[in-house]
Parts: sequence; C-alpha cells; structure tokens
Amino acid sequence: MARVYNFSAGPSMLPLSVLQKAQSELLEYGSSGQSVMEMSHRSSVYDAIIVETEAALRRVLNIPDNYKVGFIQGGASTQFAMVPMNLMTTGEADYLVTGQFSGKAAKEAEKFGTVHVVASSKDKNFTYIPDVDAVEYSPNASYIHICENNTIYGTRFTKLPQVDGIPLVADMSSCILSRPTDVSKYGLIYFGVQKNVAPAGMAVAIVREDLLENARTDLARPAMLDYKTLIDARSMYNTPNCWSIYMMGLVLHWIENEVGGLTEMEKRNNAKAQLLYDYLDQSSFFQNPVNKADRSIMNVTFASPSKELDAKFCQEAAEAGLVNLKGHRSVGGMRASIYNAMPLDGVQALVAFMKEFEARNG
Ligand code: PMP
Repeated sequence: MARVYNFSAGPSMLPLSVLQKAQSELLEYGSSGQSVMEMSHRSSVYDAIIVETEAALRRVLNIPDNYKVGFIQGGASTQFAMVPMNLMTTGEADYLVTGQFSGKAAKEAEKFGTVHVVASSKDKNFTYIPDVDAVEYSPNASYIHICENNTIYGTRFTKLPQVDGIPLVADMSSCILSRPTDVSKYGLIYFGVQKNVAPAGMAVAIVREDLLENARTDLARPAMLDYKTLIDARSMYNTPNCWSIYMMGLVLHWIENEVGGLTEMEKRNNAKAQLLYDYLDQSSFFQNPVNKADRSIMNVTFASPSKELDAKFCQEAAEAGLVNLKGHRSVGGMRASIYNAMPLDGVQALVAFMKEFEARNG
C-alpha cells in the first residue's frame, strides 16, 4: 500500500485509523450480519449509530442543550438557501463577503429577501478579513452571515461579529472541529462534512432552538428544506446519508479518544500551519499573499515566481507523493489543505520538498 499525502481542499484525507475501523466493519457491522451501507435506517442497529453520532458531536463541540442538530443532504450549498428560507424572518439579512462561498451564499439569499453586503474583501482579492467591529450592521437584519474559514483564499475570522439580538450564522465547512468553538456565540452553524468530518454527501446544521421555533412563516417551504421538519424527525424524515453519518461518528471518536479533544486538535493544527507559514515567511521564492493576522490554519495558499514553476511544482510534488496541491482556478498558485487528518509528517514532507524545489529552481 502506498498512501499519498493528500492536500485536497475536499473531499480530503480521513484519519487512517478511521478508514481501518470502517474497513474492519465493512462486511459486518457488530453482529448485525450486514454492512452499514445495507441496513435499514429504521432499524434499531442504525438508530444506535445516528444517536451516538449526534451525542459524540455534542460532546466534542460542547453543544449547549438549547441547540438542535440536523444531518441534511445537499451539501453546504443547500444551506445557502435553507438559511434565508428559514431564518430571514424580517426579509433582510447582513452578509460579509470574504470569498467565493460567502458570495454564493449572499447571491442565493437574494432570492428570498434583501441582502445587505455590509463588508467585503473583494477589493484585495479576498486576501484579508474585514474588521468586524468597524462594520455597520443593519438594525433590521434577521441574522448576520459569515463564512468563517475561506477555503479558496486561505483566510479565517479570528473575531466574530456579535450584535445584541441578531444571531450569527456561520458556514464552518472548512474549519469545523479544527479547534474549540463556543457554540453559544452563534444562532446557526452549518458545514459540509467532506473536509474535516466525513465522506461527501451531507451537511450538518446546529441551530438554536428559538430560531427553529420562530422560523419564517411567509414562505411555503418544501419539507426537505425546512429545518424544523427535518430536525423534529431526528434527521430521518426521509432516508438520510447513513454511511456519512456512520463515518462522522468514527471521526468524532478519533478526535475524542485518539487525539484527545478539540484543544489538542487545535494544538496539532497550529503546529502544522506554523511549520508551513514559517517556511513561507523566510522564503524568497514562495509567497503567501494573505494578511498575516487572517491566515487560515486549514488552507495555506502560496505561489512560486511564475505560472510555469507553479505547474512544475505541482507535477513534481505529485510524483513525490504530495498530491492535490494545485490552487483553486480562481486564484492560481498552490494550496495545501491541512485539515485535521493531515499528519504533521505530511506537512514536514511538504516543507522538505518545497526547500529542495526552491534550491533547484530559485
Ligand atoms: N462553503 C465552504 C467554505 C466550502 O469550502 C465549500 C466547498 N468547498 C462549500 C461551502 C460548498 O460545499 P458543498 O460542495 O458541500 O455544497
């Protein structure tokens, strides 16, 4: 077996021990005589899986009791629509646009009401996060939406917009479970699972109860896009993504039992990111364009002096077992996504390769 270090932005690496556990249970889960992929979602054996996955998420993220959890299909992109369809009770909402996904979320929300783009970092190609304290929020906004970690541009919020009485909604697709999170600061958190949590095919929403109970009433929402319907049915209004939920449970147990929780997870993630940024900061060959205070610890962007060298770098890195380093097509250059499952060894191997490449081409 020759497993590579996979720097993909998502779907992305899963912890090896999680894959091995899934492999060991693939043909027969427990003593059920069947695979998780084959069993009825209404069976008691599957029920125990979904209940434990939610319980593990609650333990790991320390989710307060007045928040509900939904496992929802359609990825994070469906959440771009579900949030305004359910929560835009005043017909208005504030959006901070700090990259492509928050831009898409704002565009989707425009279909359901008035969107105020109260801050944007487009003027500098999304290489920084606006000062959240300097933003003029709309008094009549139903919520304030951010994308907490910008997967494509490699930035993240280190401070959150907090306005009395206006819930914060955050897309945490590319940073969830990377560090401890104070869930009580948010009205709603959502994330696609395919980066830090599970195989692709599902999003998770963590919603404050009062927002569920006081959802928008002026729209006829399809049942599948109604948080309350889905969550009241314990995410089994219809057939859920059974496999993704099972895998999410395994990943959560890995964080709890092997890593030692989110404080330890953050230490590991900081160490990996620092190794890479420290190297980039002293390199005269590779550059990282992001404002230092706003650098993501999950997605690290960098570029060599030319497009040709970028292409050569990606090709030679892949030959050395370091794959999916090509930057997003809208940014160019390279991007190393170093999510939870990327071991320190992988980042060390990347930095060693970058040094060697710089020496040969610099
Ligand atoms: N938000 C963020 C921050 C993302 O990185 C992505 C996907 N890379 C999305 C939303 C869209 O997710 P999905 O493909 O699950 O709809």
